[in-house]
Amino acid sequence: MNDTVLITRALHFAAERHSNHRRKGQAQEPYVNHLAEVAELVASATEGKDANLVAAALLHDTIEDTVTMPEELVTKFNSDVAKLVREVTDDKSLPKQDRKDLQVANAPEKSTRAKLLKLADKTSNLRSIASSPPENWNTERKQEYIDWSSKVGAGLKGVNPWLEARFCEALAQAEQAL
Ligand code: ZN
Repeated sequence: MNDTVLITRALHFAAERHSNHRRKGQAQEPYVNHLAEVAELVASATEGKDANLVAAALLHDTIEDTVTMPEELVTKFNSDVAKLVREVTDDKSLPKQDRKDLQVANAPEKSTRAKLLKLADKTSNLRSIASSPPENWNTERKQEYIDWSSKVGAGLKGVNPWLEARFCEALAQAEQAL
């Protein structure tokens, strides 16, 4: 599949699957805004050379948060895209705290491209903690989230200095906004 077709197909598929989802923050942005931001971050970090990774960024929450099965991503896209999405998908059968602990423990073991994707995801989430935090989160809850993101991020370093700089900026912004 041609790269432009792949990426626009991923965008359309993700927009449809997440059409009823909003971000947790007070601005209640459409969820697809987050997917677009993560996709742009990985595209910039890889200088537009990894179309499968950009498609995976658009699709990164489809297995975890929508009715999408991995096999469907293989059929509609390709096995590399499906594998990348799986690599950044939490096991939702586990309790929330276990999933959070596993993200910290597993981060250093991820493939280079999955690390890029996760780092972009965390960067986007930290930016939104600064710009539009969830209304029901108190300072302690936000601090907890920032500390956890920082731990996950530490395990994702060493793959892309530009993206790591964006992550560090987002971390600092989130801290400042407390
Ligand atoms: Zn995400």
